[in-house]
Amino acid sequence: MNITEILHSYGEEGFSYNPVSVPIYETSIFSFKSFEEFQNSLLNEFEAHLYSRGKNPTAEVVEKKIAALEKAEDAKLFASGIAAVSAATMAFLKSGDHVICVKDAYGWTNKLFSQYLKRFEVEVTFVEGTNLEDFTRNTKPNTKLFFLESPTTFTFQLQDLSAITKFAKENRIKTVIDNTWATPLYQNPIELGVDIVVHSASKYIGGHSDVVAGVVVGKSEDIRHIFNTEFMNIGATIGPFESWLLLRGLRTIHVRMKKHMENTLKVIEYLQTVPQVDEIYYPFYAKHPQYELAKKQMKGGSGLFSIKLKAQSLQQIVAFTNAFRIFRRAVSWGGYESLVIPYAATNRDGLTEKNKIVRLHIGLEDPELLIEDLQRAFEAMKKAKL
Ligand SMILES: *Cc1c(COP(=O)(O)O)cnc(C)c1O
Repeated sequence: MNITEILHSYGEEGFSYNPVSVPIYETSIFSFKSFEEFQNSLLNEFEAHLYSRGKNPTAEVVEKKIAALEKAEDAKLFASGIAAVSAATMAFLKSGDHVICVKDAYGWTNKLFSQYLKRFEVEVTFVEGTNLEDFTRNTKPNTKLFFLESPTTFTFQLQDLSAITKFAKENRIKTVIDNTWATPLYQNPIELGVDIVVHSASKYIGGHSDVVAGVVVGKSEDIRHIFNTEFMNIGATIGPFESWLLLRGLRTIHVRMKKHMENTLKVIEYLQTVPQVDEIYYPFYAKHPQYELAKKQMKGGSGLFSIKLKAQSLQQIVAFTNAFRIFRRAVSWGGYESLVIPYAATNRDGLTEKNKIVRLHIGLEDPELLIEDLQRAFEAMKKAKL
């Protein structure tokens, strides 16, 4: 199936009146004609329309499309990306198990492994993840799961997915990857051997900064298992309207992603000439240490990357951040608008090395205006107190 077929009418069959826009099934319950039908549904909630905490027709359309985009058998939407991360991992872990997780994964993913799962005696080793040895050397007899995020979304380090999944399969270790950055258009980890893919759909899948959602993608058997355990028990269910917003976002994902990448490359071309920029962390920047791997396992890059400023004082970072007029100072990413978040705003540690990193999301605005806005920020940085 090509992308047009998937984004067009695929998964939208069977609605009354042949609507072009999928109806929002704003109903919590579904009714049955007979005892027999009712009983069949109660005994197979994974397949039945019984209660919208489990299954809802609007959500199912999105699930089918995302599964197809990821070249996977099935998908399940969640109320948030972190709910998807938590359910996809906890469904395969029990006390006494060991996990290897990339060190620079999304903050709440890190907290899930470093704090929350500790209460259930799940042991974790954090690794940089840029070398296969980070995984082979730290694997123990009780290692059950590798949690990957490639690239990581602050420092943009990659993991070699084919090499890691080959080792994981030989050792019967489950692999889960957070694929939010690349989107299903630019990286299909399941084709590279990964078992389960998760996304924060709040980013590019929604694409308009108006919805919080997540999705888990994988083999039918794994999705069914996650459904019957963490999904139904914890109940982080997405609503029909939020599902519809995702569908509306998905229709244009290919157009948006192309423009995000084009704009980003233009902005990076400019940033390369700026003396206050120490480093640029973007997998499709030719000087990225893993550029070759990026080209090998991804078809393109999105609009999120970081730079390291040659800052001599925290004041310079503050002035840089405050000078923007188009870039918005905000968390998250993936919508129309460009965003800036300095790492220094996430703590009160002063001018550490890591606090010189500033993350930018390049939106869909005119790139010339974004470059002017950055020039304004670099000017402000120059004038700030040292
Ligand atoms: C935002 C984000 C998450 C969490 O998703 P929510 O939808 O905010 O719960 C997980 N992983 C990555 C890489 C993210 O950027």
